Amino acid sequence: MKNTSIEPHSIRTRFAPSPTGFIHLGNLRSALYPWAYARSKQGDFILRIEDTDLERSSAEAVEVILEGMKWLGLDIDEGPFYQMQRIDRYRAVIQGMLEQGLAYYCYMSEGDLNNLREKQIANKEKPKYNGTWRPEPGKQLPVIPSGVKPVVRFKNPKDGSVIWKDAVKGVIEISNDELDDLVIARPDGTPTYNFCVVVDDLDMKITHVIRGDDHVNNTPRQINIIQALGGLVPIYAHLPTVLNDQGEKLSKRNGAMSVRDFQKAGYLPQAILNYLARLGWSHGDAEIFSKEELIQWFDLESLGKSPAQFSPEKLLWLNHHYISHANSIELAQSAIPFAKLAGIDFVAEVAQNGPDFVKVVDLLKARSNTLVELAQAAKLFYMAPPLHQTQSKEYQDLITDAIKPAIRDLVQALKVSDGSKESIGIAMKAVLSQHGLKMPALAMPVRYLLFSTTQTPAIDAVISILGVDEVVQRLNV
Ligand code: GLU
Repeated sequence: MKNTSIEPHSIRTRFAPSPTGFIHLGNLRSALYPWAYARSKQGDFILRIEDTDLERSSAEAVEVILEGMKWLGLDIDEGPFYQMQRIDRYRAVIQGMLEQGLAYYCYMSEGDLNNLREKQIANKEKPKYNGTWRPEPGKQLPVIPSGVKPVVRFKNPKDGSVIWKDAVKGVIEISNDELDDLVIARPDGTPTYNFCVVVDDLDMKITHVIRGDDHVNNTPRQINIIQALGGLVPIYAHLPTVLNDQGEKLSKRNGAMSVRDFQKAGYLPQAILNYLARLGWSHGDAEIFSKEELIQWFDLESLGKSPAQFSPEKLLWLNHHYISHANSIELAQSAIPFAKLAGIDFVAEVAQNGPDFVKVVDLLKARSNTLVELAQAAKLFYMAPPLHQTQSKEYQDLITDAIKPAIRDLVQALKVSDGSKESIGIAMKAVLSQHGLKMPALAMPVRYLLFSTTQTPAIDAVISILGVDEVVQRLNV
């Protein structure tokens, strides 16, 4: 898919998820946009797993992320890289910064820090580290206390401000006054989150950081560290949050479905991809587009500026679109696992004698919103013929003495038809006019005799797929 002949390796984007539990569609959107941007510019897309939060990270969540990306076809060029495997690298950078005077040890104890914070809050000041241990020319530092393990702080610039032109939010300026000397290593030496991100973005030569806008506050801190390290500041694009249809942030607590849930509910990856692409980005008024079109059209200029609202109805509508327009052979392949779950036992004799699954899928796809619905509807064709209780009220109501002659005539007409939907249609019309009946008067009892239900797709198509011989046997009245 990637064409490396044009501007090789110019654009490099990344998806940097924290594998902490629940992965919803909004999370995957944060993978889709950097992927689409890299692909649209013949660049590289990198996957980095930010797993340093040991308590909340899980291998299971990593699996869900990898699986979800694979399902949507978001192929990666490099990675996955795991931050936990790069700890030595972060420590080495911290060491280098200490040696160059870009960072310093701070021995302020937790208790002193808390006291400081309380005092500042009482004075209505913004809580901030006061720089006690920050080395300055001519400044005498306190005596190092015994028994306190220091943190390492980044020497944030004191003056000026950080300015960047966010591709979504426009120019953002944050005064350095507002920024603390960020802790980059904890007392046990482990690097902190913002620091790892910076080292990784630099080492991985990321040119465009496209991520959720919950990270806007981290950006000025990250930019200052990048600049201190002499790195090139990437372009940032902070994506507005995805809200649910109630206007709340997507989360498990308020009923958001996980990526796997959508897979299980019978959504096609093409529908999800198309839906997520539109959820915060647009190309004119295009609503339905292929992955290739997305790649061709994707740009940062057309990213939405306000929160996107997740609409289950619209996603379902798109899913129906993709199912009904799918190639029936491919769709049948995707539907087989769902059919098995719905109870179709393809190995059983009754199913073996049943119609070709591709034909059934072809008939049902226009009326199915999901693969689950398709599979449920397909079941009809693979069940043993119903055993009717001819004395039951339902049977008596539908299979009346008045209709029986028409059914018998239909059987005769079917026997001489060629089995195609068209010839079955002609046979039915002939019987209807011969008996002065309207279509439902005949179709309903016929459906009932065939399947014990009056709900089926168009009866001529159903008879054609089930096969005239089988139908004739079931219409025995
Ligand atoms: N790991 C962060 C998250 O999952 C993303 C960090 C980033 O993209 O810079 O929210």
